[in-house]
Amino acid sequence: MADDNHRAWVEVDPEAVAHNYSIVRRMMPESGIMPVVKADAYGHGILGIARRLEQEHPTYFGVANAAEAQCLADAGLSTPPFILGPTPPVERDQIVVRSWGCTISSVSEAEHFQRLACELHRVMSVHLAIDTGMGREGFLPGELGEILPRLAEMEALRIDGVMSHFPVADEDEIFTHQQIRLFEDCVAEVKRIFPSLRYVHTAASAGILGFRVPSATLVRPGLMLYGVAPGNAAPPESLRTTLRLLARVTLVRELPAGHGVSYGRTFITSQPMRVATIGIGYADGWRRQLGGRGLGVYLRGKVCPTLGRVTMDQIMVDVSAVPDVQSGDVAELIGTHVPVERVANLADTIPWDIFTGLGRRLPRTECTIR
Ligand SMILES: *Cc1c(COP(=O)(O)O)cnc(C)c1O
Repeated sequence: MADDNHRAWVEVDPEAVAHNYSIVRRMMPESGIMPVVKADAYGHGILGIARRLEQEHPTYFGVANAAEAQCLADAGLSTPPFILGPTPPVERDQIVVRSWGCTISSVSEAEHFQRLACELHRVMSVHLAIDTGMGREGFLPGELGEILPRLAEMEALRIDGVMSHFPVADEDEIFTHQQIRLFEDCVAEVKRIFPSLRYVHTAASAGILGFRVPSATLVRPGLMLYGVAPGNAAPPESLRTTLRLLARVTLVRELPAGHGVSYGRTFITSQPMRVATIGIGYADGWRRQLGGRGLGVYLRGKVCPTLGRVTMDQIMVDVSAVPDVQSGDVAELIGTHVPVERVANLADTIPWDIFTGLGRRLPRTECTIR
């Protein structure tokens, strides 16, 4: 539990993340694992999570940019970071110097890395991204025939991996199976020129849970490590909840009938009502869209409906069912009683967005979540 000074905070359980990681491990005993810790480990705090997962000997840590990679390196973590998306030219020098993992999607990126590596008298390991349907990065499969021989001539580059990404692994099984077949063909083509390819990877959480990719040697779980299985595929063992969003009641009052609550007066009491004000708002990542959507917060064993609009720093809830509620009480907004999937649904978004949108104003504390 956070100290009494906090109005709203996030509790994180690195042990629960490690448990979820162990499920991936048991599903794929032979595979390398790249736990994805980008975006502050999906709002969980990158260092706490990375330090715990390093004990499981992952192959890489998946990150979004050089700043996240540097954060891991500065903390003394020895697992190499892997930068998932295309790298802007300003990041590349640092990537070569630090030998971080990264992808290439174009000849111009490859040539730039080749030049930088030559200047440093090094051989730079890169993973070839292939666009098998995501439309975000990578060479197109049809380009490989022309491009692979050119890459083979770049002596300071070592093509060490091939990667792709699924756009609909949690929505469209037929497309994803086609995509896997295409990827397999691409991997075979790359292997003809680069037979010593070490890393082949395409599955994020939904891919891990729903599909098998025969040539793959590495998987990239993100969301499932944080306790949520995307789509319909159920994990073989249940995932543990890794994060709780908590906030304190700051005031409890009795409002008379006919009284408006919050901006726009979209809620008017129809009878006298006990109303609690809670110290969290959209500036903390508690989405404004959640106002008036019937979502409750969990308080003293009861689910209390939110009233009216979410404001920047505060929300109001109906605590008529909780007679003993007082200022200082702690409400759960996300956690074991209020699943993040439900919050995301009601906010017209996805759990990834809710997790990564949790505000910087919220302190993170570590504890066991059961
Ligand atoms: C973010 C990301 C992942 C992790 O995805 P989840 O759906 O959270 O498991 C994997 N691979 C790439 C390329 C990503 O950008």
